[in-house]
Formats: sequence, structure tokens, C-alpha cells
Amino acid sequence: MTDTAASTRHDVLVVGAGLVGLALAPALARAGLDVALVDRAPLAGDATPDAASFDARVYAISPGSAAFLAGLGAWPPVRLEAVEAMRIEGDAGGALAFSAYDLRQRALAWIVEERALRSALLPRLAAGGVRILAPAAIGTLAFAPDVARATLDDGRVVAARLVVGADGLRSRVREAAGLRAVPRPYGQTAVVANFACERPHRGIARQWFLGADGVLAWLPLPGAHVSIVWSAPEALAGDLLALPAADLAERVAAAGGRALGALDLLAPPSAFPLAFLRLPAMVAHRLALVGDAAHGVHPLAGQGVNLGFGDAEALAAILAQRGPLADPGAPLLLERYARRRAEPVLAMQTVTDALARLFGAPPRWLGWLRNAGLSAVDRLPPVKRALAQPALR
Ligand SMILES: Cc1cc2nc3c(=O)[nH]c(=O)nc-3n(C[C@H](O)[C@H](O)[C@H](O)COP(=O)(O)OP(=O)(O)OC[C@H]3O[C@@H](n4cnc5c(N)ncnc54)[C@H](O)[C@@H]3O)c2cc1C
Repeated sequence: MTDTAASTRHDVLVVGAGLVGLALAPALARAGLDVALVDRAPLAGDATPDAASFDARVYAISPGSAAFLAGLGAWPPVRLEAVEAMRIEGDAGGALAFSAYDLRQRALAWIVEERALRSALLPRLAAGGVRILAPAAIGTLAFAPDVARATLDDGRVVAARLVVGADGLRSRVREAAGLRAVPRPYGQTAVVANFACERPHRGIARQWFLGADGVLAWLPLPGAHVSIVWSAPEALAGDLLALPAADLAERVAAAGGRALGALDLLAPPSAFPLAFLRLPAMVAHRLALVGDAAHGVHPLAGQGVNLGFGDAEALAAILAQRGPLADPGAPLLLERYARRRAEPVLAMQTVTDALARLFGAPPRWLGWLRNAGLSAVDRLPPVKRALAQPALR
């Protein structure tokens, strides 16, 4: 191919500058690759956290993801809170608890706001010499034997030996490559909001399986604050979102057994429809998928972005070791990536999907069984440790 002024060529084109694309691009640059990153939204202007407010989007970052980000020079972020312990309650008396101390970890996870993660990752792009093409959306993608060519909606053409789709659950890249998959809706919407709490949370994350009312999680934020994710059936989510601030705070406090006393809503809630996505393949000719473009999981285990960081770390490591195979889109390398990610992705999808269904609206006898199961696991430290390991990675 002859490159013109309007057509440039790179080793890798990463489509999507969500958290996963933002981490992958500098990781690939460190592997010695010439990388371009495209996103339909502008990348600049992510404010650093200020003391007066918390971001609406908050993530539980696993120790494994934190180590990956540290390797990129993007950890620790400017503000974070350690999860020292976690308590999970079933809908009929079952309970399970984990502690960082018992698992010999500094923290089970770190709660971090999206803007803190983004402002830690953005400088790594410039440091790695990543070419930023934003705002610009992918128009068309064509895959020739030795190169892939993306036409952006502003008319620019970008050629690359490998295209990485990091463009989220409804990935355009995935569709253009012919990997057709329709996300399966859970029939639930995640209602997300931040609250001030009356009593200190002491670094404890809490989760309640509420039967027909879904799953409610409280994550500790710095100071006496929590971020909640209520994965609620759509009708209930609609009701919650329509409540006045004081009524929503009262409803959330009551659903959590007033574990932290009264709650005070800090900003209007946000809503995220939830869907499951499992693909037959994470790779195709000159294409690899990472993050939500490659797999959709229920947020009840707080693992979606952690899985995505795992994809990014694995792909960058495999491409860094490509040796005499200089072509980053070589089928052998892409197959190696797909094989390395198959087991962790399947395991996390199976566990989260099974829990979401088990604690959905099942027959009454299951209600007893699932609560007894939680408590039984709680009494078996080796089983607990085994269960916690994938989430720590
Ligand atoms: C309520 C809730 C709570 C969650 N909590 C956690 C948690 O605690 N821990 C955790 O690990 N995970 C959590 N997750 C999951 C996590 O949010 C996702 O897994 C993660 O954000 C996916 O990141 P991504 O970069 O793959 O995709 P996205 O964040 O969806 O980013 C995709 C990017 O691609 C861009 N894009 C899309 N289409 C195009 C196009 N055609 N052209 C150019 N650019 C394009 C978009 O602008 C966007 O920037 C949660 C999810 C929800 C819904």
C-alpha cells in the first residue's frame, strides 16, 4: 500500500479509549510498537478529582490490575480507598465474608473513580509516543491479507498490521470483522449513586442479594462516603431513578439494613442497562478484541474492567515477545492471545452469570439452597481462598 498524506500506517490501531484501550495503547508502545488510538469522544479535559465531589463512575480495581497499571506508571491514582473486607448477604440469612488480612493481601481491591484512573493513564499515551486520533469515529474497516485499513468519519484513512477493538459492548469493530454477537440483556439496570454515610464504613464493601429486587453493592469511598450499584429489575430501577433524593437515600439505607446509619445522596443517580456477552472468538484476521468488546459480565463481582486490563496485559506481553515474528498481526500471536485469555474469561463469566441467575427469581427451594451455600462456603477457609483468587488477579 502507498501511504498518502490522508492515509498513515501503524503497527497497531487501537479503537476505543475507554479504560481498557487507554491502558493497552501505552502497554503496546512499551513493547516497541508504533501505536495509534482512535475514539469518537475527545480525550483531553478529564479533571482530576476534587475534594468536594466524587465521580459517578467508580471501579473496584483488583490487586492484579493495580500491579499492571503500576508497571505502566499509572498507579497509584491521586485518590483511592482500600477495601479491607467484604461482606455478602443472601436473601434468607446466608452470609459470606472475606478479609484482606486472612488472604494475606494489603487490600481485596481498591475503589477508584474513573476520572482518577483516566488522569493517571492519559499522560502515559504521550510518554509512549501513541498517536491520538480523537474525536473521530470508525466509519468502515477493511481487512486485506497483509494490512487492515480503517476509514474514519472525518475522511482520514489509517492502516495497521493489527486492529484492536476496545470499543465496548456494542463494538463496531467486532461487527465489521464479522464476529456477530448480540449482547443478552439481563433485564436489569444498574442504578449508580454516591452517598455520604452517617457511620464510618471502615473499608468494608457490602453486597446484598435481594431476591426479586436484584443485587445491591456498597463500595467504600474516601471519608464517610459510599458508592452504590443497585442492579435492579428494570421496573424497580425506573422507580428508584424517579425518587426524590431523600426518598432514594432512605430506600438504599433500608435495603442495606441501615448498616451505615442514614445516607445522604451527593448527586443525581446514573443508570446502566446490563447485558451478558459471550463470543465464540476474541480474534479474527488482523483483529483482536479486548475489554467489553470481547466479553460482557454482570457487575455483581466488579470484574469487567479487571478482565479488560487482563486482556490488555496479556496481548501486550505476547506482542512484546514476538521475536523474529515482526508482524504484530501474525495469526500465531493472535491465537496465543486467544488461548491465554480463554480460561480466565470463561471462568469469570460462568461464576458471575451463574450468581446473577441463581439469585434472580428462582424457585423457592433454591432460595434455601443458595443461602445455605453462601454460609457453607464461609465456614470453609480453603474454598473461600480458592474463590477469591480470580477476583484478586
Ligand atoms: C454499574 C457498573 C459498575 C461496574 N463496576 C465495575 C467495577 O467495580 N470493577 C470492574 O472491573 N468493572 C466494573 N464494571 C465494568 C466496567 O465498567 C467495564 O467492563 C469497562 O468500563 C469496560 O471498559 P472498555 O474500555 O472495554 O469499554 P468502554 O468503557 O465501553 O469504552 C469504549 C470506548 O470506545 C469508544 N468507541 C465506541 N465506538 C466507537 C467507534 N465506532 N469509533 C471510535 N470510538 C468508539 C467509546 O467512546 C469509549 O471511549 C462496571 C460496569 C457497570 C455497568
